[in-house]
Amino acid sequence: MNKEPVKVNEKDALSRVKGFEEVVLGFSEPQALLEAARCIQCRDPKCISGCPVGIDIKTFIAQIVQKDYDGAYSTIRQKNNFPSICGRVCPAEYQCRKACVFTKKGESFASPEAIEIHFLERFAGDHGAQKNIDLKTGKDEKLSRIKVAVVGSGPAGLCCAGELARYGIKVVIFEGLHKTGGVLRYGIPPFRLPDKILDLEIDSLKKLGVELKTNTIIGKVKTIDELFADGFSAIFLGLGAGIPAFMGIPGENLCNIYSANEFLTRVNLMGAYSFPERHTPVNIGEHVVVVGGGNTAMDAARVAIRLQHMNGIKPDTTIFYRRTEVEMPARRLEIEHAKEEGIKLEFLVKPQEFIGDEKAFVKKIRASRCELGEPDSSGRRRPVVIPNSSFEATCDLAIIAIGLGANKILTSVTPKLTTDKYGDVIVNPETMETSIKGVFAGGDIVGGEGTVIEAMGMAKKAAASIIKHVLRG
Ligand code: FAD
Ligand code: SF4
Repeated sequence: MNKEPVKVNEKDALSRVKGFEEVVLGFSEPQALLEAARCIQCRDPKCISGCPVGIDIKTFIAQIVQKDYDGAYSTIRQKNNFPSICGRVCPAEYQCRKACVFTKKGESFASPEAIEIHFLERFAGDHGAQKNIDLKTGKDEKLSRIKVAVVGSGPAGLCCAGELARYGIKVVIFEGLHKTGGVLRYGIPPFRLPDKILDLEIDSLKKLGVELKTNTIIGKVKTIDELFADGFSAIFLGLGAGIPAFMGIPGENLCNIYSANEFLTRVNLMGAYSFPERHTPVNIGEHVVVVGGGNTAMDAARVAIRLQHMNGIKPDTTIFYRRTEVEMPARRLEIEHAKEEGIKLEFLVKPQEFIGDEKAFVKKIRASRCELGEPDSSGRRRPVVIPNSSFEATCDLAIIAIGLGANKILTSVTPKLTTDKYGDVIVNPETMETSIKGVFAGGDIVGGEGTVIEAMGMAKKAAASIIKHVLRG
């Protein structure tokens, strides 16, 4: 048996930073076969419980070994509607791979020896998408007369729509932006998740009869009551967590300080990297500081350094994070890729102030050094500022990526919809039903920022409840 993990193909760092092409190229067939053969087919496979939607990992890997790629695709699709997407963005090192028998006990994330489950999933997912494998649907005469509205077209909304459409339910997705996909489109850059992969998955929904209405903000264009009056029997809310948090420190309103959401949306969704051909510009600094330690911070920094390269600017992009690399919530692969691409990481630093020039453009950041103290409510050790440790660094573009919260456009005009102190929608965790009968919710709008597969897991649960709800009449 091949004991060494198979290294996935990647574009080399020097060439990839000059553009937005996909970085991870996936496994070739021989590589997938070698990696799949490393799986020892445990009698009690723990990896399955590590996956938020419980994919039968053992079976699909065995099918790859047998070269039954159609079968592997179908096995995955029973639990996960979008394997090509999850195979690219899932933080598997905290999920299925962490539970793999090859991960050493007590590790914070998967050991390098753990089976590369997500890359095998990507291999099977891409195979199924290319072959356009049609999955049997369970069309139901009664359900085909039912209409359900889905608000938001992120992974939660898309997944819920797919689950319902498979039974013949007529689904209309309402999306506030001019393009569908939510964070998968406007947040995650195309060098991690190319648009064509997302489009393939969305096309498969259209083939199932799902209708997509963009530029339609529910709460502004129509209310929940109006959707019911239009004949929708149930409504699913997949509103996401689209409102950025800020640090509230002096100087944070200076020019050239962006939220990561705005910066990424301008580039990924509005195509700012090809300004002036595209009409939305973005400022490109010579000394960029990104504040944060999650996937959003990695994405913002990796976009910023690409823009510097593409515009002939000597690259200088630094991430400021208040804890250490171990506590960084970002995917391990993104941290490695960021380092390879020349991004500098400053650990244990806490910004205190931005300093501007006479025209109110940021020119410096003042920060303090920290040390780790006692664990906080998240279980991670709290950063404690070291007295008299403050320092200044040059910074003409800052991007704040410290977290996201609920968008309240819809909830603020729907008083019957109960929310918690953060503005997240409260649901019955068994059914995902909200305080309004017939209105269900899932994804980041329930419980805050999570992962793509967690959002899809909630959406699947909600879809099952919606079917029961509409059948009850
Ligand atoms: P979203 O993806 O946020 O989609 C919500 C959609 O609803 C949006 O399109 C929004 O425009 C629309 N909407 C909101 N309100 C309305 C309204 N009133 N009317 C109509 N439409 C509305 N997770 C991972 O697993 N792996 C990663 O690598 C990863 N990287 C990330 C990188 C970034 C930059 C960000 C921001 C997040 C990342 N995440 C990652 C987290 C993941 O993307 C989210 O958990 C996931 O997208 C949540 O899905 P969702 O469908 O709930 O919400
Ligand atoms: Fe692992 Fe994510 Fe695939 Fe589940 S969806 S098996 S957690 S990579």
